[in-house]
Amino acid sequence: MTDLTRMTATELAGLVAAGETSAVEVTRAHLDRIAAVDDRVHAFLHVDSEGALTAARAVDERRAAGEQLGPLAGVPVAVKDVLTTKGVPTTVGSKILEGWRPPYDATIVQRLQAAGTVMLGKTNMDEFAMGSSTEYSAYGPTHNPWDLARIPGGSGGGSAAALAAYEAPLAIGSDTGGSIRQPGAVTGTVGAKPTYGGTSRYGLVAFSSSLDTPGPCARTVLDAALLHQVIGGHDPRDSTSIPQPVPDVVAAAKLGASGDLTGVKLGIVKEFTGEGAEPGVMAAFRESVDTLAKLGAEIVEVSCPHFRYALPAYYLIAPSECSSNLARFDGVRFGLRVGDDGNRSLEEVMSLTREAGFGAEVKRRIMVGTYALSSGYYDAYYGQAQKVRTLITRDFTAAFEQVDALISPTTPFVAFPIGARTADPYQMYLADLFTIPTNLYGGPGISVPCGLSEGLPVGLQVMAPTMADDRMYRVAAALESVVGTFTPPAL
Ligand code: GLN
Repeated sequence: MTDLTRMTATELAGLVAAGETSAVEVTRAHLDRIAAVDDRVHAFLHVDSEGALTAARAVDERRAAGEQLGPLAGVPVAVKDVLTTKGVPTTVGSKILEGWRPPYDATIVQRLQAAGTVMLGKTNMDEFAMGSSTEYSAYGPTHNPWDLARIPGGSGGGSAAALAAYEAPLAIGSDTGGSIRQPGAVTGTVGAKPTYGGTSRYGLVAFSSSLDTPGPCARTVLDAALLHQVIGGHDPRDSTSIPQPVPDVVAAAKLGASGDLTGVKLGIVKEFTGEGAEPGVMAAFRESVDTLAKLGAEIVEVSCPHFRYALPAYYLIAPSECSSNLARFDGVRFGLRVGDDGNRSLEEVMSLTREAGFGAEVKRRIMVGTYALSSGYYDAYYGQAQKVRTLITRDFTAAFEQVDALISPTTPFVAFPIGARTADPYQMYLADLFTIPTNLYGGPGISVPCGLSEGLPVGLQVMAPTMADDRMYRVAAALESVVGTFTPPAL
């Protein structure tokens, strides 16, 4: 039989449903692949072999009993270590949560289980999802399967690398400023950030609560849509969850796969001039624009004058929210506790724990956020950034009166060498130049592979209005129908 790890989730689910293979066989194939390559890739922080095989056996038993299985039953999935998993270590890439085994599952994890998917383990990430390369993980970097000396993007580099290295056919990520889309782009995989509130944050360790959005990662647009359908939808446990069903993203992906975009109007953002982007990335983007036009889409230029302020606004809002969210890591309630020798005060223990438990980037953000929220500066920094956020939202609203969706490159550059951007935080922040506006607005965005530059993958981003996630899947699937999927050189 052909290698099960090379198949799409759709194909695997079909084989399991037809009884041509079992969920256990599929799971074993992926666990073997992880054992063979993950010492080089380091996509996983924790592999739950036993839990995975138990879940797979349960699916096979349900099938044997004649139960109707869901569309992804028996398909393995890798989960970013930002989601709580009952009894299974959850670190968020941080030393401060080392050894923590949550007492509950995130809503998304519960839905994955209910759908009969098989969780393989937890994937590596930048500490607390702060970063663009997975180099800020306290447990060492993940390597890009396209070139092991390069970064796989971040913060969800582990999930994207697991897909590109054929260690998992599906993965979960979270996107606060680009952490699903940017890793997707630089690993030649698909990553979708749903509408904010379209996927539950219950059990997602908080970074920036008004921006954090969990979502699907896969190797094909249809697989991402199927996963989106499984994990999305209203959750009463999340107060910002939208009480509406997920738009029919699966139907949209299937429609797009026919390769017909007649009647679809796509906007290119005038202000994304390509300044600061690599020429090879811009060339691949322009070629994809021509492809989309050939498929029948009408392409126009639209102006979003405030997008240039998105990056600075984000780097005030996200650190502000994180400085508040991360106050809960006090050495008392979860994970690490340092210096509790019976002679030290609570304050001292708290401070020693946070000093030892947080990495440099996390500390930098807590300090920036605390400063931006302090009474004398609140209006000048945080208040100002919130006003910019409103202007960016207005730019999107005006743009979507003219076009159905916006397109851009996903990232300004292809995967860079490990170590190339860690010296200057700003160089790292630039990775999210094109993805951050969508987070500030709250709409959905997807990255789909669109070409190669210097032998490395380039992603195209499609941005749609809030709760019109289906539109981006249609456009992405249409492009994929021409460009195809991307396979890295053999590991
Ligand atoms: N790279 C961005 C940051 O460092 C976005 C991270 C994310 O989306 N989680 O904040």
